[in-house]
Amino acid sequence: MPLVTTRQLLDEAAKGGYGVGAFNVNDMEQIQAIMEAAKETNSPVIIQASRGARKFAQDNYLYHLMLAAAELYPQIPLAMHLDHGNSFETCESAIKLGFTSVMMDGSLKPDGKTPATFEENVEVTKKVADYAHERGISVEGEIGVLGGIEDGHGAGGSGLDHVTDPDQAVEFAERTGVDSLAIAIGTSHGAYKFTKKPDGSVLKMDLLIAIHKRLPNTHLVMHGSSSVPKDLQDIINQYGGKLKETWGVPVEEIQLGIKNGVRKINVDTDNRLAITGAIRKVFVESPEKFDPRDYLTPARAAMQKVVAQRMTQFGQAGHAGDYTAISIADMAKGYANGTLVTKPLIAAK
Ligand SMILES: [Zn+2]
Repeated sequence: MPLVTTRQLLDEAAKGGYGVGAFNVNDMEQIQAIMEAAKETNSPVIIQASRGARKFAQDNYLYHLMLAAAELYPQIPLAMHLDHGNSFETCESAIKLGFTSVMMDGSLKPDGKTPATFEENVEVTKKVADYAHERGISVEGEIGVLGGIEDGHGAGGSGLDHVTDPDQAVEFAERTGVDSLAIAIGTSHGAYKFTKKPDGSVLKMDLLIAIHKRLPNTHLVMHGSSSVPKDLQDIINQYGGKLKETWGVPVEEIQLGIKNGVRKINVDTDNRLAITGAIRKVFVESPEKFDPRDYLTPARAAMQKVVAQRMTQFGQAGHAGDYTAISIADMAKGYANGTLVTKPLIAAK
């Protein structure tokens, strides 16, 4: 299947009542792990690259690896998404390269650190949405500010510093016309999300439910949603790592989110943990080995296992064959003639 847009993937996910994992990549082995997991579970999938990934891998390598994935797995609907674009120019360059979907994170100023005002966020996000939709490309916006820092991007601090206000979420969706909306409900980027198993005092699922009630047709996005499972932490520490005890977002909470409008779930840390644990194990158990394939092969397999598990837990497994790709040109026509709705349905309080 040619690369498809996240709008199409998420519209289909809404029809089917499931969520779609969006997995971050920086290199070929991560893309291979995700595609094999998608094949194994027959899942549509979103592969996303941050600014940090684009800098690490270079755009052309990333883009051509994605094209290779689309070519090798014609049965899998695959979207190529820019994670946390910091400015109009970053989103524009991704669209020109061939990304089928971009996130404009206008919750922060272009430095990727300082919280922006609501008006600044609306202005830049609408500008990106107008530009992208003319070209058939999907846009994710963010309202509220996530905690933590990843790849040098983030406001830092706790996920509770700037949680999303439901009234602002409604106004933001209405004024920008985004296809999906990332909300801040207490989650953070990185491995250190919570210092104990999260409960309602730190993970605001009630807030998510309140936003979904007001915006029943808007695709919600959960960022910082790795579960940081103990077994993956343990493997790293067993083989010489030094991770501090930490908790991520429990899968049951994500599943509750999926019942309440969450259609895209971002996962990065869990895969990083799986890769690092597998590599450390080889280094400790077989210190005589020096062929990178000796440790990259089990690392790739460990990531594939985690991704396949999440695909099953999010409900996207089994849905790859439900639909055929809508071309980017037809998506552009849909936005132009109004068949692809960008005005959200707003329910009364
Ligand atoms: Zn994020």
